[in-house]
Amino acid sequence: MKACPNKERNLSYCNCSYPGCPRKGICCECMHYHRQHGELPACYFPNDAEKTWDRSIEHFKRVV
Ligand code: SF4
Repeated sequence: MKACPNKERNLSYCNCSYPGCPRKGICCECMHYHRQHGELPACYFPNDAEKTWDRSIEHFKRVV
């Protein structure tokens, strides 16, 4: 697979605190992964809410 040319730039504004995720900085894969699970990516959440790692839409509606 070709490396994402935007990865370094994406990482500069990624707020995800989940360690070791292979999708970090590859926003299209991140979005696809969470969408498949009925969730939203970390960047939809304020930093304190993101740190719970609860990516559910219910959590998003509670905090945003
Ligand atoms: S939001 Fe999810 S898929 Fe995206 S980098 Fe964080 S843990 Fe990985």
